[in-house]
Amino acid sequence: MTRRIVCHCEHGFDAQLPDEIDISEDSAGRASILDGSFLSFDCERCGDTLRPEFDLLLRDKDSDAVIYLVPEVDRDRFLFGSYSVPEGPTVVVGFAELRERIRVLEADWETQAVEVLKYQILRRAGSASDIKVYFDRSVGDQLEFHVHGLRNGEIGVVRISQSAYQSAVGDLERLRSTEPYKTLFELPYPSIHKLEIEPESHD
Ligand SMILES: [Zn+2]
Repeated sequence: MTRRIVCHCEHGFDAQLPDEIDISEDSAGRASILDGSFLSFDCERCGDTLRPEFDLLLRDKDSDAVIYLVPEVDRDRFLFGSYSVPEGPTVVVGFAELRERIRVLEADWETQAVEVLKYQILRRAGSASDIKVYFDRSVGDQLEFHVHGLRNGEIGVVRISQSAYQSAVGDLERLRSTEPYKTLFELPYPSIHKLEIEPESHD
């Protein structure tokens, strides 16, 4: 699909963007999503690299996943129900969540258990609503998460043991009928980033 891209320098140009990608067949596409170069364009006027986000349907035949990307800029509209998405696919919001989901699928971690671990990390990180946690990679038998939006502007790194992960997996059946997890797991957007998180109390 042809889309109009407008740079912050006000230079506008048309670009051909895919509506759909199958990462089990398009290994270059998969790699570019993971390394952050997917859909990036250099502005002809000011030379800046632009990374516009557009709706995208992503399939992965290897894991049977069908994922719909909602642009980060439309997060609030989507959460308040005024952004329509096709029925069926699981939704992620923004490239960071898309990248995370692909990494979770590649590592063969259980998506819901990963969200449970993210919830625990977020509760410890405090209540600021702009804090986001993303699974980044597996390190040995540990899961490494990155915490964005901290007050000092740094990215926090949290590693969770395989045994904590296994206990989250073992607890999933109970959690699925318990709030806030019941709401968290609701489709099409089973993400911790849609919840208001109460920080852990220390009294
Ligand atoms: Zn420009």
